[in-house]
Amino acid sequence: MITHYIVGSNHRVLRCSILFLTALLVGCSSDGKRPNVLLVLIDTLRADHLHCYGYDGKITDHLDSLASEGVRWSCCQAQSSWTLPSMTSIFTGVTERAHLAGTRGEHLYGIGRELSTLPDLFSEMDYATFGIFNAPVMDVEYGFTRGCQSYDVEGCRETVDAEVVVDRIFEWVDGDIEQPFFIVAHFFDPHWPYTAPDGPQDLANVSASSIRRRNANGRITVREMHDMMSCYDMEIRYCDRELGRLFAGLRQRGLDENTIIVVVADHGEEFLDHGMMFHGRQFFQETIHVPLIMSGPGIPEDSVVDDVVGQYDILPTLMHLTEGSVPDYVQGVSLLPTDGVGHEGVPSSGVNTGLKQRAAVRFGDAKVLWDADADSAWGYDLSQGFEDEDSRLAPDRTQVENVRTYWATVPVAIPDPVEVGDHKAKWFKDMAYI
Ligand SMILES: [Zn+2]
Repeated sequence: MITHYIVGSNHRVLRCSILFLTALLVGCSSDGKRPNVLLVLIDTLRADHLHCYGYDGKITDHLDSLASEGVRWSCCQAQSSWTLPSMTSIFTGVTERAHLAGTRGEHLYGIGRELSTLPDLFSEMDYATFGIFNAPVMDVEYGFTRGCQSYDVEGCRETVDAEVVVDRIFEWVDGDIEQPFFIVAHFFDPHWPYTAPDGPQDLANVSASSIRRRNANGRITVREMHDMMSCYDMEIRYCDRELGRLFAGLRQRGLDENTIIVVVADHGEEFLDHGMMFHGRQFFQETIHVPLIMSGPGIPEDSVVDDVVGQYDILPTLMHLTEGSVPDYVQGVSLLPTDGVGHEGVPSSGVNTGLKQRAAVRFGDAKVLWDADADSAWGYDLSQGFEDEDSRLAPDRTQVENVRTYWATVPVAIPDPVEVGDHKAKWFKDMAYI
């Protein structure tokens, strides 16, 4: 079987043909055993802070190596700019307008019960399933643990560092597991507050709301922003180092040959790029351009794919690689083989409460933003490098229609309302999520 892949390095794109055996394309090992799957979710990691995505700083050695051993998608758009809706798209393979998990008013909504999650699907395929979750919105009541035969949600009450996440994965892997496994591991380190264990702790007791207030009053200086960004980078470097320990541990256990590793972020982070800090408020690329890397059996090595793809493509891709079946409502498509992924546009939507309802759809280098209340659309040419007045674009009618059609998506599930306890409500309010 001849398949075309788009392969590149240093942003140079070459097209080459690569011969793959059918067995490799579906990821089975030589003994016919289905591959293990490790899904690594890194919170708040903007793509342009990885060296393999063009960052000057070399703070992601292990992720860069992983990319060289597998496929890196250069244009992965998050389906939302904050945790709950984006993670739901990763877990269910549908867009935010289709699952509607997120906030409305002071209420939070988790994954609708009509939707099968990745742990559900792998559990049905007789995989051993384990999840470790690390943010209040990833806790049991939001639906992310559904289908996990074992899970650890201690970090949803008080977040834990990457070192703890990696240790607990090893504890579980070293247990009595006979069948192939699916692990979903959520790393929270790059999320506010930026206090890496080996970095300065100055921001440990600073509230996010105080930063937002000072930001709104124009009182965060460029120098202060750079200081915060360097602490953010230390979190990324620390998390990357622990991921290196995780990947090495899999190798030591002889699991690397038959384990698919997927790394993705739920959203990025703002550092005054468009005047704001944090995330969840708008759809500029700093909050929705996320890294997506896959490596393992059935996945080409050292490849870069420049098609525009989304987080909702991860579920069908993993089902393809493990010969699982994809629920018929899923909107994502398998990214493997990498020849010509068919999305007309990749959408993002779902902001924190009290903000203007907007959507963004990316079509190649063009991005169209749409204000639902005003029914007005505007666009940017992303090949210009930065979304500002100089890169403004008049969107064409077909693209605007596409955004309107996306906004009118009929939901495929009723999102599950969640009672927010006092402790979590305090955190949500500080982060301005509700
Ligand atoms: Zn997040």
